[in-house]
Amino acid sequence: MADEFHGVGASPGTATGPVVTLTQDEVTLDQVDDPVAAITASGSAVSAQLSALSTAAREGGRDEAADVLNAQSLIAEDEMIVDAVSGHLDGGLDLEAAFAQATSDLESMLASIPDPYLAARAADVGEVMLAIKRDLAGAEASSADITTPSILIAHELTAAETAGLNPELVLGFATEVGGATSHVAIIARSLGVPAVVGVADLVASGATTAALDGSTGEFYANPSQDVLDEFADRLTKQSALQTRLDKVRGKKVGLGDAAVAVAANIASTDDVERGVAEESDGVGLFRTEFLFLDTDTPPTEDEQFEAYRLAASSWSDTVVIRTFDIGGDKPAEYLDLPPEENPFLGQRGVRIYDQFPDLIDGQLRAALRAAAHGPVAVMVPMVATLDEFRSVKARVDAVKASLQADGIECGNIELGVMVEVPSVALNAKAFAEEVDFFSIGTNDLTQYTMAADRLLSSLSDLHDPLHPAVLELCRLTAEAGQAKGRSVSVCGLAAADPLAAVIFASIGITKLSVSAGSVNLIKATLAAQTPSIADAVHEVLATASSAAEVRETLMPMLIEP
Ligand code: PEP
Ligand code: MG
Repeated sequence: MADEFHGVGASPGTATGPVVTLTQDEVTLDQVDDPVAAITASGSAVSAQLSALSTAAREGGRDEAADVLNAQSLIAEDEMIVDAVSGHLDGGLDLEAAFAQATSDLESMLASIPDPYLAARAADVGEVMLAIKRDLAGAEASSADITTPSILIAHELTAAETAGLNPELVLGFATEVGGATSHVAIIARSLGVPAVVGVADLVASGATTAALDGSTGEFYANPSQDVLDEFADRLTKQSALQTRLDKVRGKKVGLGDAAVAVAANIASTDDVERGVAEESDGVGLFRTEFLFLDTDTPPTEDEQFEAYRLAASSWSDTVVIRTFDIGGDKPAEYLDLPPEENPFLGQRGVRIYDQFPDLIDGQLRAALRAAAHGPVAVMVPMVATLDEFRSVKARVDAVKASLQADGIECGNIELGVMVEVPSVALNAKAFAEEVDFFSIGTNDLTQYTMAADRLLSSLSDLHDPLHPAVLELCRLTAEAGQAKGRSVSVCGLAAADPLAAVIFASIGITKLSVSAGSVNLIKATLAAQTPSIADAVHEVLATASSAAEVRETLMPMLIEP
C-alpha cells in the first residue's frame, strides 16, 4: 500500500528505487580519566575529518558545501567546547550530562545572538558536538549499507554525512529533520542529488521502495504502479525540458522585440567555469566577498586582480564586479567593526568604505587592471544616497589617474549602483543623471521595503519580491533608467523565478542575472512568451494590491518553455 508523505523540497529532481535506512545508534558517554584531554583529542580528530571533507568538496567545485564543512571544522577545535563541558563537570555533572548540557548551552547561546551569521552557527555546533560525542564514545560512524543505487532515508543527516554520500549510489534521500535552507539541503543541491527534508514519521513508514520529488517535497513510501508511472512521466518531461534549454544555450533572447540579456551571478572562481559552461551573457553580479570573508587578512590587490582578470577574460560580454559588501551581517574579523544590534541596518557595504580607504581603493585598482583583459563594470552595494555613489566615483577617478601615472595597464569601467535601499529607486531620476547603470538587488530591496529580515523563515511570506510595492520600485527605476539610456538589470534571486523574470522584462529591465544553473531556464522562459504578456503585466501591476494577486493573475498566462 503506497503511503504519501509531504516534506520540503530541498534539492530538485525525482528518484524512484529501493530504500536503504541510515542507522544512527544512540551513544552514551562513560566517565573517562582525563575528560579535557579526551574531548580535545576527539575535537581534533573530528576537525581533521571535516577539513578533509571540506577540501574534497572544494576540489569538486562544491564551494557552498566546502564552506559549511570548513566552518564546522573550525568549531570542532574551538576551546569553547572544552570550556563548556568542563564547567558542568566541575559543577558535579557526569560526562554524559555535562556534554548534553554544554551542547544545549552553546546552541542557545549562538541562536540568541542578534547576528544572523552567528545564529546560523547554532545548527553547526549541534552537529559538531554530536560528532565529537560519537568519537569520544568510540562509536562507529553512522552508516548505510548502499551497494546498489538506492534512496536513502534517515531521521537526520549531518553536513558531514551528506557530503560523504556517493551520488552514483544515492538516487535521492529524505530526512525527518531539516528545512529548505538547512545545510543538508545546500549540500544536496551542490551534489545534484534530489532530496526532500522535514518529512514527519518517515523512518517508521516501513518503506522498502520509494518515489520522491525534490521540487514538490512529495515522498511516496512503497509507491503503487500508478505513482511510478506518474514519476516516469515527470522524468520524460524533465528531459524534454532539458532539450529545450539546450536550444537556447549561447543564444541572445528577449521578450517580444525587447532584448534581455541573461547573465550569471558568480561568487567564486569555480563559478566562472559554471557560468561559461552555461554560456551566460557575461556576469551580472560578481559577489567578491569570498575574497574578503573567512580569512584573517584582507586579500591583496594582486590576488583580487587574478580573480577578476580570470572572469573578465572568460566572457566577451561585461563582467559586473560588485565592490565588497562586508560589515553588518557579514563581518570580517580583521576590520574589527563593533557588533551591532541591527546589522542589516548598520555599517555595511559602501557605508564602511571611507573607514577603510586602502581596502576599497585596492579593490578598485584590481578591477581597473582587470578591465584591460575584458569588459568590466563595477557596481556599489548598499547605496542610499547620491553622495555615497559620488564618493566611490571620485575614488575610481583618483585610482585610475594613479595607475596611469605609474604606467600600470588598466581599462575603462562603467560604474553603476545597486538598487537595494528604497531611497535609490525613489530617487532614481537623480541617480540616472550620474550612474552608468542600475542593478536591482531584489533580496535586499524586498527586505528594506517590507521591513522583513531576509533570513527569517517565519517572515518569508512578507519577504516577497512580487509584492506590488517592490515591483513599483523596480518599475520606477526602469523608467528613470530608460529615460536617460541607462541599462537596468535585476540580480537578486527573484530574477531566477520564471514569472518574476517575465514581469521584470515586461517593465523594461534589460538584463537578468541568475545563478549559472538557471541561465537557460530563464532564457527559454523569455523566448517562449508572446509579446502580449507585457500588456497583461502592466495592467496587473496598475491594480494589484498583493503578491498573491500578482501571482494568481499572471501565472495562468505564463507559457512554460
Ligand atoms: C540582493 O540584495 O538582491 C543582492 C543581489 O545582493 P546579496 O544577495 O548579495 O545581498
Ligand atoms: Mg544585497
